[in-house]
Amino acid sequence: MKLLLATRNKDKIVEIKEILEDLDVEIVSASDIPGMPDVIEDQDTIKENAIKKAKECAAFSGMLTLADDTGLFVEALDGKPGVYASRFAGENCSYKDNRNKMLKEMKGKTNRKAQFRTVVAFASPQELIETAQGEVDGTIIESEIGTGGFGYDAIFRAVETGKTFGEMSEKEKNKISHRGRAFRKMIPVIVEYKNMSF
Ligand code: IMP
Repeated sequence: MKLLLATRNKDKIVEIKEILEDLDVEIVSASDIPGMPDVIEDQDTIKENAIKKAKECAAFSGMLTLADDTGLFVEALDGKPGVYASRFAGENCSYKDNRNKMLKEMKGKTNRKAQFRTVVAFASPQELIETAQGEVDGTIIESEIGTGGFGYDAIFRAVETGKTFGEMSEKEKNKISHRGRAFRKMIPVIVEYKNMSF
């Protein structure tokens, strides 16, 4: 069985392959599909963006497709950046720009609670099959700790481990992360499809 991940983000691809490694399916990404157009993430929620990506990429490729969309919701910023996490510091900004903007916005704030949320959508070329959501609670710390991961990882400290995602190994992060939780909820649905395809 072959599955398409509807992303070109190498950081995400590494994580998702590790999360799904026991599934014994061949995983390809959007970069492996010639001519695959980039899906515009213009929806108001992470769920709608994930569904849009999964459906469009499945229809283009003719493959069973998984798409994820992630948001970072910070209490003291009224839930910002939320679904706009990738563009928090402006169009075409870097991960580092986003972290710096977050540290600046959070300067002097005592409530530092934040939550990462991922929605994963699973689609066939014909239809949306299922969605699943995963969350992890944490705090935005005052300066970067750790060099692992990507995005906001060095400034997000998970409540469950007391470490930032930047300090964790891939496996440690996946065990408790928003993305790990969302994709693991989807595994039984993928297995059902795997058993049907022969
Ligand atoms: P996306 O829309 O799912 O690509 O995610 C939006 C943005 O959230 C990304 O550009 C990253 O900056 C950030 N992000 C997504 N997932 C993670 C993660 O697991 N750790 C830290 N930052 C993340």
